[in-house]
Amino acid sequence: MKKSERILSTPYTFLKCQSCKITMKRKFEDGDIVFLVTQSCSDCDGKMMITKIFGESMD
Ligand SMILES: [Zn+2]
Repeated sequence: MKKSERILSTPYTFLKCQSCKITMKRKFEDGDIVFLVTQSCSDCDGKMMITKIFGESMD
C-alpha cells in the first residue's frame, strides 16, 4: 500500500482589539478558541479577542 502524504497547512489566529479595532494575525497557539480574549493590544491597553482561526488542514 502506498502511504498518502499529508500536507498540513499552518493554522493562523486572527485577533481584533476591542478598543481601537486593530486586527492582527499570528500563528495558532494551543488553546486558542474563537471569541477568547487572549492578550493585550500592542497599540493601546485594549484587549485582543480572537475573531477567527484559519488555515486548518483541508481534506
Ligand atoms: Zn488596541
